Amino acid sequence: MATASRVIDHYISGGAPAPTRRGDVFDPNTGRVQASVALGDQAVLDRAVQAALAAQPGWAATNPQRRARVMFRFKELIEANMEELARLLSSEHGKVIADSKGDIQRGLEVIEFCCAAPHLTKGEYTIGAGPGIDVYSMRVPLGIGAGITPFNFPGMIPMWMFGPAIVTGNAFILKPSERDPSVPVRLAELMKEAGLPDGILQVVHGDKEMVDAILDHPEIKAVSFVGSSDIAHYVYSRGTQAGKRVQAMGGAKNHGIVMPDADLDQVVADLSGAAFGSAGERCMALPVVVPVGDDTAERLKAKLLPAIEALRVGISTDDQAHYGPVVTAAHKAKIESYIQMGVDEGADLVVDGRGFKLQGYEDGFFVGPTLFDRVTTDMRTYQEEIFGPVLQMVRARDFEEAVALPSKHQYGNGVAIFTRNGHAAREFAARINVGMVGINVPIPVPVAYHSFGGWKRSGFGDHNQHGMEGIRFWTKTKTVTQRFPDGSPQGDSSFVIPTMG
Ligand code: NAD
Repeated sequence: MATASRVIDHYISGGAPAPTRRGDVFDPNTGRVQASVALGDQAVLDRAVQAALAAQPGWAATNPQRRARVMFRFKELIEANMEELARLLSSEHGKVIADSKGDIQRGLEVIEFCCAAPHLTKGEYTIGAGPGIDVYSMRVPLGIGAGITPFNFPGMIPMWMFGPAIVTGNAFILKPSERDPSVPVRLAELMKEAGLPDGILQVVHGDKEMVDAILDHPEIKAVSFVGSSDIAHYVYSRGTQAGKRVQAMGGAKNHGIVMPDADLDQVVADLSGAAFGSAGERCMALPVVVPVGDDTAERLKAKLLPAIEALRVGISTDDQAHYGPVVTAAHKAKIESYIQMGVDEGADLVVDGRGFKLQGYEDGFFVGPTLFDRVTTDMRTYQEEIFGPVLQMVRARDFEEAVALPSKHQYGNGVAIFTRNGHAAREFAARINVGMVGINVPIPVPVAYHSFGGWKRSGFGDHNQHGMEGIRFWTKTKTVTQRFPDGSPQGDSSFVIPTMG
């Protein structure tokens, strides 16, 4: 049981039952418990579902422009509260304030996209599909949807989900990560302030028990999940078994291919941010660099070393820091055990970030930047996601070998190639077996009006997040075939399938 005085409760219309279980929320900078979060169960979820059931039909019947106006007002409120939200986010996650603003901003861009929902949900119409017959289709909401989100983007990922779900007329229940749950609650409060009716956006906290309750609840029609791959697969299997629509995004191990003709100064600048920014706790981080040829590898390493040495690790409010602490002590221990595993597996540990202590913050969850060279595909540290400030260099002999590495990897979220050769880049984009590709772009997270999603064990189910894919995920198509006979004889019954011929 936590001892903190600040309690982060569920956000349920009509109030939540008193929590029976609670979890600790840490300040990763100091290592201290700063709050406790309610951990809910089926009874809590049911309270939220009842409120959603009562509210959703009215919301679905609200005209789409009015629904979109809530998004417009929410955008203004987010902008007005950006500083407060970013500080809150950093205080629980540990990422630096500027990066927290980016987290919120990328979510806000999805909200901006959602402002166009009246246009995006318009259907199709065919006049005269047959004699006196018109056919039209429309996209209608599913009813109640749920989102289960990871700790690493507590602003952006909830907005990826609840923006499209709500603007299309659904009620939405969010189950954020129990490690940094405060920003998701603030977002729900701001949506209410923006004019959203009660019951349309609610937040339930919890762990596996709450996730299972969501997956089994018969009134929840769709579940969007983002987190690690084993749990994504579990959520996908259990949710679809229960007849729900499920999209489940998983982990990642993104590779950056460096061709011999690449501008290495730019590559090093890009890699430093992409491998170590947010302490490597991004599903679109670039933790594997693949120089093509030993000469490229040596030149790259020579430039990387001073860049890594210049990295400043600091508390999340230090505006000079490049990155802050990782999220929990357990995660720090896991990253450090992977570093030891890399040594045991025979990789060259070039820079060792273990045992890093920040003066005045000795109990914070900091990990120094780490670089491995001569990592090979048989190593577990290559095959698995580390999710920390650890960059692994895997040397490839040639372009073919470099294309094969990410293509054969179990994860297929993002990948990047650094080259000045347009032909090589084009070949790479066409052949690579990965969902999101950057060409001289280290973190190719698609803009909000395109869609986000990885392949292989980085994504289960159909439909990516946001963009038109998000609108489709949160709606289903109804198609109407109509005629209004003029009263003249229409002929006898037909027992043959009707055709328009
Ligand atoms: P996680 O899988 O531990 O948790 C994600 C969610 O699942 C949380 O809400 C958590 O409460 C819940 N959960 C945890 N254990 C569970 C269990 N046993 N059964 C059911 N639910 C459970 O992930 P995390 O550590 O919060 O986030 C980091 C992971 O998310 C990384 O693997 C990262 O690559 C991935 N991620 C993927 C994307 C993407 O779009 N592909 C984006 C961000 C993060």
